[in-house]
Formats: sequence, C-alpha cells, structure tokens
Amino acid sequence: MEQFYSIQGEGYHQGKAAHFIRLGGCDVGCHWCDVKESWNASAHPIVPIEKILEDIDYQKSDLVIVTGGEPLMYNLEYMCTRLHGLNLKSHVETSGTSALSGEWDWVTFSPKKFKNPLPIYYSIANELKVIVNNRSDLKWAEGHAAQVNTSCELYLQPEWTKRDKMMPLIMDYVRNNPKWRISLQVHKYLGVD
Ligand code: SF4
Repeated sequence: MEQFYSIQGEGYHQGKAAHFIRLGGCDVGCHWCDVKESWNASAHPIVPIEKILEDIDYQKSDLVIVTGGEPLMYNLEYMCTRLHGLNLKSHVETSGTSALSGEWDWVTFSPKKFKNPLPIYYSIANELKVIVNNRSDLKWAEGHAAQVNTSCELYLQPEWTKRDKMMPLIMDYVRNNPKWRISLQVHKYLGVD
C-alpha cells in the first residue's frame, strides 16, 4: 500500500527512526480503524518484495516495521529472510488473526474485539498493545494480559478520536496497575505519517 521513512510513534520502540512497509488488506473490521483505505487489498498494486527492498535506504535506520492493514494475511517468510540478509531488524504489527509466518525480531500483538486472535500470538508477542475505545476495554485488556508470555511488555493506547476522554481513565488505571504502560500515537501529535 505504501512505504515511508518516519518515527515509530507507538509502544516499546516509540521515538525510533524506522522504515515502514504498509501492506494492503485487512479482514478484522475495527469500526474506529484509522487506515480503512487499507482494507481492500485489491485496491492496492502488487509490488515485488525486491522492489520494496530496493526503496529502503539502508544507510539510515536498520529498523523495518511491517504494518497494515493486517500484514500477516500474507506469508512473510521470504520478506523476513531478505530483511535479515540485509542486516535489517524486522518488526511486525499484527492483530494476530492470521497464520504466523516469518521470523521476527519484534512482534507487536494488538488483538481486536472484532476477530479473535490465534493462540500462538500470546506466546510469541514481545508487546501486547490494547487500544482503549471505552472503559470496558480495560477489563478486556486484562484478559489478554493474563495469556501472554511473562516477558511481554504491556501497553494501553487510547483510540485516537477518543483520546481526550480515555486518557484520564488510562492514566488512573496505569497508576493503579503499573505493569501497564501508556502508548501514545506520538507521530500523530508530531503531524507525521
Ligand atoms: Fe484497521 Fe488494524 Fe483493525 Fe485492521 S486490525 S481494521 S487495519 S485497526
């Protein structure tokens, strides 16, 4: 769908310069999705992996973040292998609803209420990121936190359009439950992609 060089605005690696590869196609259907234009894969051209890799400036950051859409709707094993062959770090952001493929240096697992994730993602997630759209999502987040591996980092992130309403709730929750951290979409505050 697109690729660009920017700043990771969310989660554990927030603030790092990174190359983003956004793949078209998503079958999860979050009503608050901020990239609905990604949903229809056929609206985006097929781009050979070699072309995608060619357009990455390796002299800059060695961090490549594959996102979507739901990137794991595709088998990404070859892409991961090629990224590692170029000494690049491979991160993926996924809802965990499609089969896992590829060996990733970092997996951001962001389950959604609209389609259940597959069990494997709880054991391999490096970070769990739950989008908080209403108060009940905090309880829902705990259900997922109870299933992830012990080294998984836990993040609560306000849904962007509800951030003013949700942030006081989230701050209060994190004060009382410090295993959680707050993730903000810093790139949106900065006005960048
Ligand atoms: Fe949008 Fe991500 Fe939900 Fe898909 S999983 S609908 S891309 S927020």
